[in-house]
Amino acid sequence: MKNIFCLILSLILINLSGCAVNPATGDQDLVLMSEQSEIALGRKTNKEVLQHYIVYDNPELQAYVNGVGQALAENSHRNNLIYRFTVLDSKDVNAFALPGGYIYITRGLMAYLNSEAELAAVLGHEIGHITARHSVRQYSATQLTGIGTVLASIFIPGMNQASSQLMQVMGTAFIRGYGREHELEADKLGAEYVARTNYDAESMLDVIRVLKNQETFETQRANSEGRETRIYHGLFSTHPDHDTRLQEIVAYASKYQSQPDSRKGEAEYLNQIDGLIFGDSPQQGITRGNNFYHESLGIGITFPGNWNVTNLPNKLVITAPQGAATQQILLDDINKKISPKAFMIQRLGLKNLRNDQPLTINGLDAHTGIATINTGEGKRSARFTVIYFNHQAYILVGVSKDPGALSHYDAAFMETARSFHQLAGDERLLAKPLRLEIIESTEDTNFKSLASQSPLEQYQEEKLRLLNGLYPTGEANSKPLLKIVN
Ligand SMILES: [Zn+2]
Repeated sequence: MKNIFCLILSLILINLSGCAVNPATGDQDLVLMSEQSEIALGRKTNKEVLQHYIVYDNPELQAYVNGVGQALAENSHRNNLIYRFTVLDSKDVNAFALPGGYIYITRGLMAYLNSEAELAAVLGHEIGHITARHSVRQYSATQLTGIGTVLASIFIPGMNQASSQLMQVMGTAFIRGYGREHELEADKLGAEYVARTNYDAESMLDVIRVLKNQETFETQRANSEGRETRIYHGLFSTHPDHDTRLQEIVAYASKYQSQPDSRKGEAEYLNQIDGLIFGDSPQQGITRGNNFYHESLGIGITFPGNWNVTNLPNKLVITAPQGAATQQILLDDINKKISPKAFMIQRLGLKNLRNDQPLTINGLDAHTGIATINTGEGKRSARFTVIYFNHQAYILVGVSKDPGALSHYDAAFMETARSFHQLAGDERLLAKPLRLEIIESTEDTNFKSLASQSPLEQYQEEKLRLLNGLYPTGEANSKPLLKIVN
């Protein structure tokens, strides 16, 4: 499955071990890593993943996903491994596997699945990456050709502490997949495990449809908003829509079914995800209209009206219409007792800071000024503001797309900076998350009326259709149970 992602990792040293018979495919592989090293790599990387992701706090749901996963793993080519299945508290639509048996699925992806068989298809695909030792084979190929992991360059000069570490882990996860051949192999193995566990192997295709529809929707939105598409499960783009090889794989897999009737488990699955957090979680901060609230950091910010907000793991990005300007907000520890101005010069390396002045923003110490920085599109003058709160520095960086247009957007950048404040009591109530609710449909249920009552911001109808596997034109009364958002 194209879109579902696979972590390839910033890697540790390995033993040379030459050719090995692949446990899942039976082929001879040139593999530079022993099984012991492979498992050690997974164990180490799992700890890194858990530093950057939060495990979703719902033991019942974790047990359910684990149960589905264990049944599949038992029917896999490497059932001597111990597998661990973890639901991550992330709104991103993603799943990935680490060598040695660690498999993760985000609640963001779970929200869009519609049956236990689709969940099995996702987990089966990830098990396939592990049984075919893809991370190891990919790493071997990388070693041989001398291509190192290419990391996204860091936007801010001198910013190389926690946020860049996070970028390294996230960057490799988000930028790279296993490539088309390995993805198809994982699909083939996954479909086999799904069928052997008596789920409907067709659910592989259903999952791909779910993810493809999201891609279509995101592309349309991006075009109408005049911005680049943001597809984090980036493997989508490398795969054709109607994949005949994949359809053959699925048809072939059905022969592994030991019972004539395969299971879909729609009601079981929907019952399990009733109440699932949808979208932003309180731990990551919640966007409501033009406001961003972060309950645990205890801060709130207001953005210009028609700008778009994207909450990434390591920063907030707000974008003017047509992408004409962006402002990023990053966070880092203050370690030495230095002024915000000294922080800008010493920690951010802004040697050419100019037109700068100290500020007090809603009672907090701050400093603002202009500096020239290198961006992906060349040199730009940027508006920097550093605000101190709770021994942490909030770094706001605003740039315009047109090199000469900073003055045009500077007032908006400053307005955002001046809105930064400590959360007040009643604002904390607004920082509560949205949740999925499962309802029964009637003949009269339709997406138009559901959308009119939905707290979702923008594109309510499209989003509800996507959630229910009925995008772009399906109607709500065609399914007995429906997901809505409350
Ligand atoms: Zn994959």
